Amino acid sequence: MTRIAQLLAANKGYAAARANVADARPWRRMAVVTCMDARIDVFAALGLHLGEAHVIRNAGGRVTDDVLRSLALSSQVLGVDTVVVMQHTKCGLAGVTDEELRTLTGADLGFFPIDDHAAALREDIALLAEKSYLSPLKMIAGFIYDVESGEVEDVAVWERPA
Ligand SMILES: [Zn+2]
Repeated sequence: MTRIAQLLAANKGYAAARANVADARPWRRMAVVTCMDARIDVFAALGLHLGEAHVIRNAGGRVTDDVLRSLALSSQVLGVDTVVVMQHTKCGLAGVTDEELRTLTGADLGFFPIDDHAAALREDIALLAEKSYLSPLKMIAGFIYDVESGEVEDVAVWERPA
């Protein structure tokens, strides 16, 4: 069986057993922005279940234009008022430069490398907090997930001033 066929075979069992969630609005009114790293099971790590949160993933879990696009919809259309930005230990974007990543990939892109997790989280939170179109957001937290222990460290929090 090819790896694609394995997915389709697995889906047959899933579709038969799954719970149906009728409402597209995340029940916990939360969105989690995190890295695409295969070692992070976002729902299990944070005690989330189907239908409860938006999960937006990219390399590094950085706040890119596409994350802003998604969060504009999350917050303005789908009721999200809380965002968690979660970076992690041993991330491929930590401790490297844009130049090194351009050489490694052959892609002339901005990769949002991470020099210091706490500083990068504060930078990304500030970026979210300043966007007028994200005004429904009341709270933004910055976490670091440890891929070895599975523990989350709460390193930054922002609350919209009353
Ligand atoms: Zn990563």
